[in-house]
Amino acid sequence: MMSDAAHLIGGRWTEPAATLEVIDPSDGAAFARIGRGGAAEIDAAVAAAQAALDGAWGKLTATERGRLLSRLAALIARDAERLAQLESRDVGKPIRQARADAAACARYFEFYGGAADKVMGDTIPYQDGFTVFTLWEPHGVTAHIVPWNYPLQIAGRSVAAALAMGNACVLKPAEDASLTCLAIAKLAEEAGFPPGALNVVTGLGEEAGAALSAHPGIGHVSFTGSPEVGRLIQTAAARNTIPVTLELGGKSPQLVFADADLETAAATVVNAVIQNAGQTCSAGSRVLVEERIYDRFVADLGARFDKLVAGPADRDLDLGPVINASQRSRIEGYLARAEGLPVAGRGSIASNAPPGGFYVRPTLFADVPRDHVLAQEEVFGPVLVAIRVRDEEEALQVANGTAYGLVSGVWTGDAGRALRLARRLRTGQVFVNNYGAGGGVELPFGGMKGSGHGREKGFAALFGFAAMKTVAVKHG
Ligand code: NAD
Repeated sequence: MMSDAAHLIGGRWTEPAATLEVIDPSDGAAFARIGRGGAAEIDAAVAAAQAALDGAWGKLTATERGRLLSRLAALIARDAERLAQLESRDVGKPIRQARADAAACARYFEFYGGAADKVMGDTIPYQDGFTVFTLWEPHGVTAHIVPWNYPLQIAGRSVAAALAMGNACVLKPAEDASLTCLAIAKLAEEAGFPPGALNVVTGLGEEAGAALSAHPGIGHVSFTGSPEVGRLIQTAAARNTIPVTLELGGKSPQLVFADADLETAAATVVNAVIQNAGQTCSAGSRVLVEERIYDRFVADLGARFDKLVAGPADRDLDLGPVINASQRSRIEGYLARAEGLPVAGRGSIASNAPPGGFYVRPTLFADVPRDHVLAQEEVFGPVLVAIRVRDEEEALQVANGTAYGLVSGVWTGDAGRALRLARRLRTGQVFVNNYGAGGGVELPFGGMKGSGHGREKGFAALFGFAAMKTVAVKHG
């Protein structure tokens, strides 16, 4: 059995006092162990990060930080296949999806490596006899609490931007999928990051995660995960009066109109909800179809669903298992509440899939009322609901009619309609005639409403990991 049972604290891999089993979702068997850190390890990691800021890491120029990030990007690219294999096994995602994640992770470090010395302040016209300018400064020690669905991508996007701005990071991976975060930290050592610039403490959310988010030594928390935990994180941050970036998932709609390229729309709509077995914050989990093409389009989607096969990650099928038994029962709980809804398409589970794996049949429900629980709540599984809409206005009302607001997709041949909707949809991203779940390193990403606040990805993310300082010099 592999052992990654160590935390990285201040440049030292420390033996943990306790460990947790790592389960392979494809067969349910344990194949590794990770450390079960708690308050003591978090204390040590925050102190080590502060020491790095006061020492070698804090003295680097932005250009030098950028070079380290670029070096790490090259090492991730060098080891992309190994990282993809590890991610595929740990998360249960088909290997080609894990390969895309490893490539995106390298790209985050490349992008933010290049950006590190291109963040500039302003000079501000002010009263006679003054020169006023702004500086962007790091928050200090930043906390990064990431989920299990895309560890490589989400740790990458968060840590790379924070390091680029000169923060020192404490990363708390998800207990269900920590292995690639540890692997990235090893590569950061090889790249030459000073000790303490990046620390990793693995463990449970209510132990290591709670201790980190409440720690008085941190200056910012970024969190991706469930709304319930997001509220706990924001509450903990409020006690320390520090800013947070929260990305809490969605119920993202795809709006399909009769004048769209329906073939491309159908293929993309299916992929956007089955990718990573539906465990994607930006999964397109509702499809809103214009009445006059509804029957035809939903029948096409249904035929595509019927052909989908879920199976072990290394078989590289349409979808793998979901992450664990409790996630599967959560999804099954939603499916039980779908009783009475027409099933328009349902995939299968590969006949030789190990019985211990956590498989769910991908399912398309038709004629789902807009206020049904399946049309409102994030299932986080391969479940798509089709909703019939009369016209553009009704599509907009239904699209905006949930607590979430992360991503939306608009499929139409009418440029005017595309732009009208792009302005009125209450989501952090709108894709027109394409859908961008995942990837999009350059594109600012984050929620409106219950999907959270703050932006990650793109150049915009850098400003979340920094505080603006205004300097007013009176010189007469
Ligand atoms: P979660 O929110 O519990 O876990 C996300 C991260 O937060 C993990 O690193 C976890 O260890 C940590 N955490 C948990 N409790 C914490 C606490 N009290 N304080 C600090 N950190 C804590 O997510 P989950 O339980 O793994 O999944 C539950 C549901 O959340 C899913 O079914 C799904 O709906 C949603 N989810 C959304 C995303 C997303 O990307 N938006 C990702 C994962 C889960």
